[in-house]
Amino acid sequence: MDNSKVRCYVCERNCTIALGRRGFCGAYENRDGCLVHVGWGRLSAAESRPIEIKPLFHYWPNSTSLTFSGWGCNFLCPWCQNYLLSWVRVCVDGPVVPPERLVEWARRAGDEGLCASFNEPVTLFDYLLDLAEVARREGFYLSLVTNAYFTTRAVDALVGAGWDGWSVDIKGCPEASRRRRDVLPGVDHEVVFRNARRVLDNGGHVEMIYLVVPGYNDVCAEWIIERHLDYLGPDVPLHVNRYYPAFRWGEPPTPVETLLRIAEKARRAGIKYVYVGNVHDPELEATRCPRCGKVLVVREGYRVTHWGLVEEGGRYRCPRCGEIIPIRGKYVGPKPTRYITFI
Ligand code: SF4
Repeated sequence: MDNSKVRCYVCERNCTIALGRRGFCGAYENRDGCLVHVGWGRLSAAESRPIEIKPLFHYWPNSTSLTFSGWGCNFLCPWCQNYLLSWVRVCVDGPVVPPERLVEWARRAGDEGLCASFNEPVTLFDYLLDLAEVARREGFYLSLVTNAYFTTRAVDALVGAGWDGWSVDIKGCPEASRRRRDVLPGVDHEVVFRNARRVLDNGGHVEMIYLVVPGYNDVCAEWIIERHLDYLGPDVPLHVNRYYPAFRWGEPPTPVETLLRIAEKARRAGIKYVYVGNVHDPELEATRCPRCGKVLVVREGYRVTHWGLVEEGGRYRCPRCGEIIPIRGKYVGPKPTRYITFI
């Protein structure tokens, strides 16, 4: 490699960046032969939100987290709901939010944690490591909504720093890539599962999100279910979510029957916690005991409206049959829905 070029190892794109240029996501730049995180602390949004909206259903239930984002993305999906943040490059003249201020906002909002979301957290990698030091000292949990296309080194660093709640978006499969070569070219969809496994091996918590996009990844159900069970096992929740038209993708919303069919297939294959999201039906977002069928947790409007688990020695059980239900963190009790915006 030319001496003036640098390589970025934050995500699996492994960009080779020429002098004065930036990598694919726009957040890392080659300045005088050094890789500089120009996205450090340059935030596009910050708002206190329920954890259930991520979605994370088995992680600090009913808590709220100070949710924040940077600029840019390493993927660029044409159906992106947040393309105004993702499809733009970070402006280096923008203000910087120091980690201490973000943590102060979380404290002021009464949040239990922080969450990197809205755009891809890859663009904030070094900032996340610095933020973790401040936030963990203050006792906040740390979660992220991500395509999980980090390198394994980056996954290890994040989980090691305290980023232990991962809501992982599955974008596609080899068949989807064959069907539409112009969408996410060069992306290896298997990496997402490899990294989700890596998070679990490092002691983190994972929930997988399959946004079913007609015309692209609606052919992926079997591949995804198979990978889910092979890499992650039956206890990791799977959210089968409805897509709505956005940005450059004009297909009509995913038919609800398609979502129900996929969810049923996933359950029959052995995944214990399967949810259908973005259709606003509490029945489809409730947690049932996989052993006796009892309804244990009901959610509505991104809030827990019924909590029926019993806590015993730091673990949560079904009160009827005693089955252990995997929950990371604590159920925080009744808490109203609030969206407090700082940026
Ligand atoms: S984080 Fe950005 S610059 Fe680094 S490899 Fe990924 S896309 Fe390229």
